Amino acid sequence: MNNSKKDLWIRHEYEKIKLSSDLFDKMDCWDNLELIKSLHYSRLDILLKMEATLHFHPATLRKLAKEATEMEYKLQEAWGFPRDSSKHYWSDSPHCNCFYKTVSDNCIIHGFVDKGYLFIDMHESV
Ligand SMILES: [Zn+2]
Repeated sequence: MNNSKKDLWIRHEYEKIKLSSDLFDKMDCWDNLELIKSLHYSRLDILLKMEATLHFHPATLRKLAKEATEMEYKLQEAWGFPRDSSKHYWSDSPHCNCFYKTVSDNCIIHGFVDKGYLFIDMHESV
């Protein structure tokens, strides 16, 4: 087994993520390895900040969630996937109480649609 066949791990304080070497082969994106790693670290840094943000600062949480979403789009581009918000993992964000990609009205990050915050702004805009 050569080195490139080993799965790669992103080891971050927030979460450990395994990157599949098969997917790098399949997508032919080994050239983007460092970029993909750094985007993952940036995203995990943001999630860690969200976790440390107090629940009564929804504006900060939404801003960070938007940055994390932007990282997910950049990751999709780096892997060679189309930009697709339906593939994002936003519902596992800290302080989010949406249930598996179904927006909960009382989620302080994705809910509050009636208070002028539109979910679609975060997830569908380019
Ligand atoms: Zn939510």
